Amino acid sequence: MYAIGMRVALVGALCAALVSGCAQETTEMPLDPATNPGMSGGESAVKQRAERPIEPRPEVPSRPPAAVDVPAKAVNGTLYVALRPLADQVGGSVAHDPVEGTIEAAIGGHRFSWIVGAPVLSRDGVFLPGDFTPVVEGKEIWVPLAFVRDGLRWPAQTAEGGRIRLAVQNATVEAAKPQPNRPALATLRAADVAAYLQHLSPPIRGARLSSRASHLPGAPRSYREGVHEGIDWYSGYTGVAITRSTPVVAMADGVVVRADRAYREMPKAERDRLLAECRRLGRTPAHILDRLRGRTVWVQHDGGLLTRYAHLSAVADGIDVGARVKRGQVLGYVGNSGTSSGVAGTDEDLHLHLDILVYGEPFWKYLRSDEIRLVLEAVFSPEKR
Ligand SMILES: [Zn+2]
Repeated sequence: MYAIGMRVALVGALCAALVSGCAQETTEMPLDPATNPGMSGGESAVKQRAERPIEPRPEVPSRPPAAVDVPAKAVNGTLYVALRPLADQVGGSVAHDPVEGTIEAAIGGHRFSWIVGAPVLSRDGVFLPGDFTPVVEGKEIWVPLAFVRDGLRWPAQTAEGGRIRLAVQNATVEAAKPQPNRPALATLRAADVAAYLQHLSPPIRGARLSSRASHLPGAPRSYREGVHEGIDWYSGYTGVAITRSTPVVAMADGVVVRADRAYREMPKAERDRLLAECRRLGRTPAHILDRLRGRTVWVQHDGGLLTRYAHLSAVADGIDVGARVKRGQVLGYVGNSGTSSGVAGTDEDLHLHLDILVYGEPFWKYLRSDEIRLVLEAVFSPEKR
């Protein structure tokens, strides 16, 4: 009973988020059992919370520090702060996976994640506009001061002599709360996922979904020992001609959180080295997958939805980090950047690779392949073209 009640409440909240349209931020959805009477479950809620896999974090200081004092340094005009000392002083935690190339932190009641080598920062599964590229030096992790301002939302204070003093906002109080609840993809049926994505329009005007399994999520990608995470849009399979001048458009209103305008194609030897690393590991680490996507534009939408457009040949004028975009607005142009053809400098393999994430997870993560296809056929139905 409890699980069913929870699903109804969750779907209700998702629908409410959809109906509310595209206000600036509907990410704080009332899904926390503490604030949503429909989801309160007394003992079971407590039990479920206890079983939720949250990484252990150090003891929270008994009194909130008014400020923390952490190492800082300037590199090429950007001020960086040391992440571990910052987290330690407010009872947070930091985990760096050097193979995967990911950094996860729980600080001030929020979860943050970075990809090493990439500018993006996710805060509770929502990507923030800015350049948050971390720098890893041995055990220390340096993050741009923008993380303090935009991620933690603490007012930064004076930097002096290699250290910076940061005023702390509610860190101890928030650290004691459970992580905010988000739409639990694992609990959603395919129909729920389809409803959640229903307002998205196609990323290429007039294009239809490819019927080829190899173009859809879950298809094997043996060259990098992984699986396909997105949807490919090729000439000959989508009902439209796709060339280097084919515009890629925003699937809904949103904010540009990444635009690789300055992308330079990697040398073939570099790509070969990344693929050799995938073969050695038997999988595709996150930081390598990020490179293999080539030139990308990422757009964050309401409700934790992120659309990611990859292998682009160019980013359109005005598509800069922080820009607000409208549905149908041109983001860039189809290309083959990051692919073997792209690094070889040929015009082969031109296609758009599209990812759709829900609070940081691929929408299809918990669906069977037949369900994935049904969801996508519903989202990209012919009447939307
Ligand atoms: Zn693809």
